[in-house]
Amino acid sequence: MVSFPTRYSTSAHFANAAAWAREQLEAMGYVARLQDIVVDGNPGQNVVADKEGHANGARGVVLVTAHLDSINTQGGPAAPAPGADDNGSGSAGLIEMMRAFEDHRGEHDLRAVLFGGEEEGLLGSKQYLANLPAAERERIRAVVNMDMIGTLNVPTHSVLIEGAPSSQKVIDRLSQAAMTYTRLAVETSLHPFASDHVPFIDAGIPAVLTIEGADGTNVHSGADTIDHIDYDFALEILRMNVAFVARMVGRVPRRGIS
Ligand SMILES: [Zn+2]
Repeated sequence: MVSFPTRYSTSAHFANAAAWAREQLEAMGYVARLQDIVVDGNPGQNVVADKEGHANGARGVVLVTAHLDSINTQGGPAAPAPGADDNGSGSAGLIEMMRAFEDHRGEHDLRAVLFGGEEEGLLGSKQYLANLPAAERERIRAVVNMDMIGTLNVPTHSVLIEGAPSSQKVIDRLSQAAMTYTRLAVETSLHPFASDHVPFIDAGIPAVLTIEGADGTNVHSGADTIDHIDYDFALEILRMNVAFVARMVGRVPRRGIS
């Protein structure tokens, strides 16, 4: 992610990053596409990757999301914006989560979405939702958004799970997963703001943000570099999210020889 000079939403580098991410997901067997969006009058993209579930009858869908774009607010669109934590960490984390589910036979559908236009005002997630028919919205069982999951700002490994009363069940189940599978200290909040889970919550969909505890020091500048990323810590947040998604997607055994 950080090898792109910037992932500013309307830059050619962003388009390259989106195409690269789509290829990664497609190579794992997901049906992946680019969705055109508009960012301040210019073209941008979301990356959407799908894997169908195997339940007989009606299926829900579980969404894992992160914003792929980065920004350097002082330097402008062309300035270096490695965006290692914000949000290379969540974007790379999403791709690795999808790798974990590569051979998983879920009951429900699994969908990964990498948004553009987040730093310009959650534009990718807003436009994604605006284009989603009501019947498709109703199929969403949960949305797990990742935005900044890789920097250890305090000595304790901690995660903030942020949602709204409508996502309380998701918060509870993620907290359980953290307790069962990780050493993470869990903080929760019912006051969602400033990332791509918000448009989903505003639409009444059970969505949460998972984010490093005491987030954010070097973000939105050229200083958000990969040497600040703590991989063991990021892995713990991913482990929590994988456990939760596995539970929500369910599992269908393979037929035949057992
Ligand atoms: Zn962010």
